Amino acid sequence: MFVQCPRCFYLDLRHGLKRPSWPAFTLNSAVDALLKKEFDTHRAGNTAHPLMAAYKLNYRPFAHSKMDQWRHNFTGVQVKHEVTNFMVYGAVDDIWQDDEGNLMIVDYKSTSTDKPIDLNDHWKAAYKRQMEFYQWLARHNEELGKYRVLDLGYFVYCNGQKDVAAFDAKLEFNIELIPYEGNDAWVEDKILSAHQCLSNDKIPEAVADCEYCQYRQAAKTLEMWGGDSLFS
Ligand code: SF4
Repeated sequence: MFVQCPRCFYLDLRHGLKRPSWPAFTLNSAVDALLKKEFDTHRAGNTAHPLMAAYKLNYRPFAHSKMDQWRHNFTGVQVKHEVTNFMVYGAVDDIWQDDEGNLMIVDYKSTSTDKPIDLNDHWKAAYKRQMEFYQWLARHNEELGKYRVLDLGYFVYCNGQKDVAAFDAKLEFNIELIPYEGNDAWVEDKILSAHQCLSNDKIPEAVADCEYCQYRQAAKTLEMWGGDSLFS
């Protein structure tokens, strides 16, 4: 949130003023849970998931006693950041291991689109940032930091198909593996800037291109000046 807009971050973390909530993405969560179950079967058996075999990747889901803790929203992969005294954490979807013992961060995503899936649109910048942040966490975490965490990570992208003969109460998915070479060099600076932001008594500026704030400003102006006269 700090990278998106320091103002909303500040209002939330310093003043407890949260953005309005919206309904949970329950279909996406269901896909995540099913993927987790499937990869866990291969984790337990130390076998490659068929998707890895299809992409000719000699990987296994990484098996570790703390895997559930690292995947849980309220615990996640934790790092105590000494300079700021922040506890920084994030819950990964999965971690895979190559045949040399190196680790890769993996994120599950689901969508439904007729277009080819890539990582190039505006929203995907946040996905890439999320991956790079998890890579940073893994490298600085007490347990995961014992391994080499590669810049290479993967998005397991599930695409719900609409072009099927009949629904029959079943959603069918194409699953693609999209590799991404991350670069976590920005993370440390952002943590320091976030700390500086929260330590300041002045509310930071809002970003210019945010629909929410444009709406807030337009509504405030309309409410101040009253009714239709403003736009007539
Ligand atoms: S521009 Fe306004 S609404 Fe948008 S993220 Fe920033 S403070 Fe929040």
